[in-house]
Amino acid sequence: MNAALEAVGSLQDVVLRQTVPARELTTFGVGADVPHLLEIGSTAACAQVLKILQEHGASWRVLGAGSNVVLPDSDLSDVIIRLGRGLNGAASSVGEALEPIEQVADKLAQSRLPAMLYVAGGSGLMSLSRLLTARGLSGLEFAAGIPASVGGAVAMNAGAHGGSMADVLREVHVVSALGEQVLNAKDLQLAYRACCLPEQSVVVGAVLELKRDSAEECLKRRRENLLYRKKTQPLHLPSAGSVFQNPSDDAAAGALLDRAGFKGRRKGGVEFSEMHANWLVRSGAEAKSSDVSDLVQSAIAAVREMCAAELKPEIRMW
Ligand SMILES: Cc1cc2nc3c(=O)[nH]c(=O)nc-3n(C[C@H](O)[C@H](O)[C@H](O)COP(=O)(O)OP(=O)(O)OC[C@H]3O[C@@H](n4cnc5c(N)ncnc54)[C@H](O)[C@@H]3O)c2cc1C
Repeated sequence: MNAALEAVGSLQDVVLRQTVPARELTTFGVGADVPHLLEIGSTAACAQVLKILQEHGASWRVLGAGSNVVLPDSDLSDVIIRLGRGLNGAASSVGEALEPIEQVADKLAQSRLPAMLYVAGGSGLMSLSRLLTARGLSGLEFAAGIPASVGGAVAMNAGAHGGSMADVLREVHVVSALGEQVLNAKDLQLAYRACCLPEQSVVVGAVLELKRDSAEECLKRRRENLLYRKKTQPLHLPSAGSVFQNPSDDAAAGALLDRAGFKGRRKGGVEFSEMHANWLVRSGAEAKSSDVSDLVQSAIAAVREMCAAELKPEIRMW
């Protein structure tokens, strides 16, 4: 591991950080410090890093904005990769130099070309949604309030209010130890919170296709989505969003957990929210990852016994 870290730590556009606190890396903020974090600022550097890690047999995982991940209480043996500032921005197509999203969105809004743009994987989904809707580029209104990176949103096929990344995603730019690839979104089996990416690959960018509409209408839809979120979700406390997927269209996980008596159920510094039973929140200073997994396991067992429904976690426990 040390030889691999030494080799990648000296690459251009790569920053190696040691012992990084979980609270800096994930929205839930539980778990032990991350021993080794590589912040990568370019597609070329990403390809080099993955190749070197593979040559040294070093295992790795990629973290986005950490809004769906719960880190373990013990040290991770994997190197964690995260896309840095150099991979935050947009372009008119794959392979072009990145510019600030505002500039690309301005040009797109003023042109008569199809409303397509390339967004780098480290860009924030919420600000992307805000910048596009304000310019009458419609499609990401659902993403208001989802604190994801673009790479993580693609990997999870993030969605809300009847929309998801699958609706706007046309191509996905991935890097693996073999190099770069641009994949057609149709080949990724995008489904409810699912996306089949090539194994051991990192999403470094995505081509999105939007629709043109009036900025007023786009902003109205976005505002309504945000208001609904504020009314129904415990956004004032650290969390990783919904804990479980909905078992079916007519069985919401939150309603099942409420019926099973899980609202307010607590273990250590973690509890199922009183406001929304499908959200675990960090409500105490001593919150642990094991508190999260114990609550998750007891909820699965209780709902199974109550109505034979199988709850599947949406959050990723590392
Ligand atoms: C307040 C709040 C509200 C939320 N609301 C919603 C919602 O409405 N809808 C919804 O779907 N989700 C929601 N979530 C959950 C979360 O935001 C999404 O799952 C999001 O897609 C995760 O993106 P991320 O960048 O944070 O990824 P992470 O949480 O860091 O990672 C999630 C998974 O994606 C993988 N991944 C991350 N980046 C990459 C990459 N560049 N390449 C390849 N794989 C990658 C990781 O390895 C991991 O398996 C919410 C979370 C919070 C905290």
